[in-house]
Amino acid sequence: MTVKHTQPFYYVIFVLLFLNTGFNAPLAAEAGHLTAPAHYISMEFDLQTHSLKANSRIDLPAGVSLQISLASLNVSRIIINGQAAETAPGNNYLNIPESPKNQEILITYSKEIQPDTSPYNMISESGITLIDSWYPVADHEMFFKLTAHIPLDFEAISETDEIIVFQINNTKQVTFRFPHPLFSINFIAGPYVVSRETFGEEKNLVAYFFPEDQELAAGYLAKAKKYLARYEEMLGPYPYSRFSIVENRLPTGFAMPTFTLLGQSVVRLPFIVDTSLGHEVLHAWFGNGVRMSPEEGNWVEGLTTYLADQSFAADEGRDTAYRKEQLVKYQNFVRADMDLVLRNFSNVGHGDMKGQPIRAVGYNKSSMFFHMLRNKLGPDVFTASLQDFFKRAKFKAAGWSDLQSSFESVSGVDLNDFFTQWLDRNDVPVLAVPQPEIVNKDGYPVVHFSIVQKNNTPYTLEVPVVIKTATEEIHKTLSVSGSRTLFEIPVASVPHTLVIDPGYDLMRELAPSELPPTWSQFLGTANKVAVLPTEKHRSLYNSLLEQLKESEVRVLLQDEITDADLAANSLLFLGTEGSLSRSLFAQPAHPAEGFTLDVRRSPLNPSQVAVLVSAANSEQVEMTAGKLRHYGKYSYLSFKDSRIRDKNITETDFGISLELVNLPAGIETSKSKGFEDIIAKLLHYQVIYIGEGHTNYEDHQLQLEISRALHEHDSRLAIGMEMFNRSTQAVIDRYLAGELDEKAFLKESHYFKTWRFDFRLYRDIINFAKHNHLPVIALNLENDIVNQVFKGGGPKSLDDEDASLLPADRNLDEPGYLERIGSAYMMHAGQKQNGDFSGFLQAQALWDETMAETIAEYLQDHPDERMVVIAGRGHVDKINAIPPRVARRMPISQAVVVNSSGSASESETADFVFFSPPAGLSPPPLLGVMLEDRGEEKGVLVSALNPQGQAKEAGIKEKDIILAIDSQAVNDIEDIKIEMLYKEKSDSVSVRIKRAAFPFGHKEIDIEVPLKSAQQTHHM
Ligand SMILES: [Zn+2]
Repeated sequence: MTVKHTQPFYYVIFVLLFLNTGFNAPLAAEAGHLTAPAHYISMEFDLQTHSLKANSRIDLPAGVSLQISLASLNVSRIIINGQAAETAPGNNYLNIPESPKNQEILITYSKEIQPDTSPYNMISESGITLIDSWYPVADHEMFFKLTAHIPLDFEAISETDEIIVFQINNTKQVTFRFPHPLFSINFIAGPYVVSRETFGEEKNLVAYFFPEDQELAAGYLAKAKKYLARYEEMLGPYPYSRFSIVENRLPTGFAMPTFTLLGQSVVRLPFIVDTSLGHEVLHAWFGNGVRMSPEEGNWVEGLTTYLADQSFAADEGRDTAYRKEQLVKYQNFVRADMDLVLRNFSNVGHGDMKGQPIRAVGYNKSSMFFHMLRNKLGPDVFTASLQDFFKRAKFKAAGWSDLQSSFESVSGVDLNDFFTQWLDRNDVPVLAVPQPEIVNKDGYPVVHFSIVQKNNTPYTLEVPVVIKTATEEIHKTLSVSGSRTLFEIPVASVPHTLVIDPGYDLMRELAPSELPPTWSQFLGTANKVAVLPTEKHRSLYNSLLEQLKESEVRVLLQDEITDADLAANSLLFLGTEGSLSRSLFAQPAHPAEGFTLDVRRSPLNPSQVAVLVSAANSEQVEMTAGKLRHYGKYSYLSFKDSRIRDKNITETDFGISLELVNLPAGIETSKSKGFEDIIAKLLHYQVIYIGEGHTNYEDHQLQLEISRALHEHDSRLAIGMEMFNRSTQAVIDRYLAGELDEKAFLKESHYFKTWRFDFRLYRDIINFAKHNHLPVIALNLENDIVNQVFKGGGPKSLDDEDASLLPADRNLDEPGYLERIGSAYMMHAGQKQNGDFSGFLQAQALWDETMAETIAEYLQDHPDERMVVIAGRGHVDKINAIPPRVARRMPISQAVVVNSSGSASESETADFVFFSPPAGLSPPPLLGVMLEDRGEEKGVLVSALNPQGQAKEAGIKEKDIILAIDSQAVNDIEDIKIEMLYKEKSDSVSVRIKRAAFPFGHKEIDIEVPLKSAQQTHHM
């Protein structure tokens, strides 16, 4: 700032204002003596030049020093105790040392505020808002008296218990005085329509709304009256004599002593009367009535959030959901390395990304603190303690320690440990519950379980749990203080579920099953990448990328991103048409118009999210981008022309939920249908999946019997088979046409290389198709490609030719798919020598997606045909395997058929369940050898022998090379498997072997091996 020397013009006004306002009568003197500094401000405006001119007089009591900030003011004159003064050059502060006598400081200044240059200040014909550094602000609480000259058609408001208005010529003079000391005051004026009400004991409730929003005033007054009554009843009388609701041209949401200042854009939002308004009203008690002590940190926002926002959610029965949202937000933004401690929270402005973690502590964790305190002491003691606190601290500054002493003196409970663990730690409890055990005692179940705290230092907690049985819910609150606490809870009937903290009564880390994928999780994570399909998308989504700058997103083209990047980061796909996005989520069903943001759990890394964004054009992105930060808690958002059209949060578990016992499912036998009845129903479907356990012969018989029965009713039938890769279709066709015999078919289709199971399991169904000239469709993808995707960690490791064989649209996010594949991955975890989970999942999805694509393409070309699909049980799961992936590609009727395995989940995963009697093939004849191919060299190496096997007994030795079986030359293992397939009824086979001769060379010997059927093993 610059200090200007006295200008006569200002001096004249200075004197004039003194005369007009009766400025000479000292305010504090009315209270008898000067107890705090008193600050008298008089000002006038020039709306055309957006400026104010003002004089301040500060009466400083003896023994008090003062520092006054003159930053951002044009100061023209300073007089201290009658002497002209200046600030030191380059210094924005005026330091007044204490004196044994009262002191007087006079400052004359002006300030110009050009439009759109400040979020807090404006001076214009449409209104005046002065919140930030508009007068000399001091480091001491003061009594204020403010006089302002405003246009006749304006009304003005400030912190005040009374307003005195005079008309002088064609201006209006308003004077405010406030009987309690304040650090700072604010001034608002504008062409308001004023509406009045009364509340409580003859107190004034006033609304200052702009003419265009006048009709909103009645609603605001009515709601404010309810809130005032609610908190007067809860906490004691409203501490001032008037409360005003003031509309502001600038977008604020502030609670000042005696009024709340709400931005015009805020006031027009329909939900404000039910949310923010109550919060701002409550600040009259906490925040203004009792101020927070600057030495102790901010307890105000947490308590206000709890008694207002949380409590309003409770009025609507959604307080559990509200608290869960608070925990979700905390978890999404607060990371351990930020070292945020509640007691250190002071204040943070709204809106900026960097403030999110701080707000998550100061509002959300703090609100949960008061919730836990209320649960600990009970609602009556809790409320009585707050009343005590308000009474003791009214018009004073108070801190956490004052709250603690009120709660302790009213409850008689020592709360020191409780306050300390929640206010002074930077972590929150991380609970885990290992799978419980059910033990029967006297014929009744007892649930044995432990609650584990993963924190280095355990908390002392009261943990609510629920045990659910078919007939009742048993609620308990368990005291937990160690790293592991054991519980035994007897119940009267079989318990099916145990839930820890289902009502979100604890501040704690959420388990993955509780945490919905949300936009704020993307914003809060440290690892995030935005993916552009092409350079062109960069400009399309430019305004969104601008908004995200503050949250440090790496932006990559889809070709630049590696499989490892995909697995390590949260992903933002800008456009859903790119091949990378389609390889993970296919094409999501977003509306074509407007702007859609769709957050999923990342299938490649469940601790991260993937966000699918689509937009009709860059205007839609621009209109929406700035709004998104208000919708952080959502999983799905759809806007059109910047208006929200659809929003939701993905449902997740409430509480840490553990499944205990599933009682067996059953069906009424009278509901059971005969085979023909079910066939009659199956005839209504175009695709019929018949799942198999690959070695369960009864499953294969069911496949044959159903195919035969369907064919009898309608000959337009095709059979799709998982067992063959798409590249073998021509070989299958030649076999069905009679151009190949079975041996040649098996050899050329490499059946034994790609599908290791006994061919006899499938022979009947293939021959049934051949006999009836039905097409057999190879459904699957080449094993080599799938293996490469697994080993390489994703499809980026494929060469272009192999990559072109993959189905372009793949959805790794079918419901429950991740869990199912995840548990399969855990089972194979011992043998994961290469490839991580993300590669495993990518590879697994290739099977189902390729088969679905083949089925859909065939039926699109042959719309009159029905297809029976022969595949493993996992692939025919109707929730997340092939069926939904076919449905995504074409509208079609599908049914899933399995033989019952007795699992209760069959009612969800299949449409028809058969109860086939067990059946088996005769065991295949075995030689009892372990074989190895020899590459280009002729014959197959015997690498090991079954010690009890036929080959060993007949004299075949390790390292022998098998050249022929019954005179049929064999070059690889496949040849041997094919030959052995036809030896079922033989008594013995003649094996020609080549054996190293002593001392040099080789000899060839024919050995007769008698055959004995044996259990199927890896030996041949
Ligand atoms: Zn607040």
